[in-house]
Amino acid sequence: MAENTKMQSLIDQAEQDLLHTYNRYPIVLDHGDGMYLYDVNGKKYLDFVSGIGVFGLGYNPEGYNDALKAQIDKILHTSNYYYNEPAIKAAHLLKKVSGMDRVFFTNSGAEAIEGAIKAAQKAAYNKDGKNDHEIIAMEHSFHGRTIGALSVTGNAHYREAFATIDDKVRFATLNDFESVKSQVTDKTCAILLEVVQGEGGLTTATEEFLKAVRALCDEKGLCLIFDEVQCGMGRTGYMFAWQKFGVKPDVMACAKTLGCGVPVGAFLLTEELAKVSLCPGDHGTTYGGNPFAAAAVVKVLELFEKKKIPEHVQAVGPYLWKKLDELMAKYSAHIFEHRGRGLMQGLVFDQPVAPIIKKAMDKGLILINAGANILRFLPPLILEEAHVDEMCGILDECLKEVLG
Ligand SMILES: *Cc1c(COP(=O)(O)O)cnc(C)c1O
Repeated sequence: MAENTKMQSLIDQAEQDLLHTYNRYPIVLDHGDGMYLYDVNGKKYLDFVSGIGVFGLGYNPEGYNDALKAQIDKILHTSNYYYNEPAIKAAHLLKKVSGMDRVFFTNSGAEAIEGAIKAAQKAAYNKDGKNDHEIIAMEHSFHGRTIGALSVTGNAHYREAFATIDDKVRFATLNDFESVKSQVTDKTCAILLEVVQGEGGLTTATEEFLKAVRALCDEKGLCLIFDEVQCGMGRTGYMFAWQKFGVKPDVMACAKTLGCGVPVGAFLLTEELAKVSLCPGDHGTTYGGNPFAAAAVVKVLELFEKKKIPEHVQAVGPYLWKKLDELMAKYSAHIFEHRGRGLMQGLVFDQPVAPIIKKAMDKGLILINAGANILRFLPPLILEEAHVDEMCGILDECLKEVLG
């Protein structure tokens, strides 16, 4: 009772003080360990959200906290007018796993998208001296909440109230190559897409589509930008989702799991593009690539290699797929599609999934939606089959109670 009062009073305080931009679930999280989270009352939850694809290595991964503590005792920030060793190491490791050539660190995914767009615009400007270039983005995409990233987000509801740069953005349909081609004009400078759409509902770009878009970009001299903020960093069983098909972008945005909890993002360019794009004075950031965030990236990439995370996802992803397929078969009257790749999957329902998520939370399982009717599964990448069984057991009970 006293514990519930404490949690409720924290929630009441939050509702007084925080800007109401989220309808939060009524729990106050306190700490985590491995695949599990604990609220301020000590209640344990199996986590299938990982802070929206952030905690790829789970909570308290081996050596991670110590690496951050050691960096705190050295220096947190230097400014980008000077070099710092963690950022140098982080960039080198990130190049190695991505096959890209040049790295710019940011503080978030949205900022990585902003930088990627600027890189494409600058390259186009260097060609024709004009600053009126257009971007083709996909319907149902999500790229972030800043004005630039919002402008290329293919969900009108998010953009509606804001003065986004609509006259410079054209939307096409993922996996419909003709729809992309028909949006190309003599002003187009880039095509932007998520290889697996996250917020938009777990739709996966096909190999055929990606190859056709790559060829179109080559033919017309356009930048291909991949937003790997959610589908990157091992999530689909490859360090980056595009690597499965070998369709390489000119620019790639990355964040979320990159820091495994420390806010950090990056955009990466090929050398070919870097040579004709952003140069001193064109772009900057105060905090981006600071030694603290970079130390996190270094440790994360070391642990990814040591734990062979992409290989692990390739092994456990199909098990999650099989188990969710079984649930879909059992509740086929209400679940009609299963989407995604690796440890980024979704079940499409005939009704809003919020009651299922609430019920799961009561029973100690954290899940999230992607749009009103899609239940999204985005667990830490250290997931084992036993966790899948535990999750499916709880979810089955919830579905029984909610769907009848
Ligand atoms: C989360 C997300 C972003 C935005 O990242 P922030 O760190 O919230 O700014 C951009 N693109 C995709 C695909 C995302 O999932």
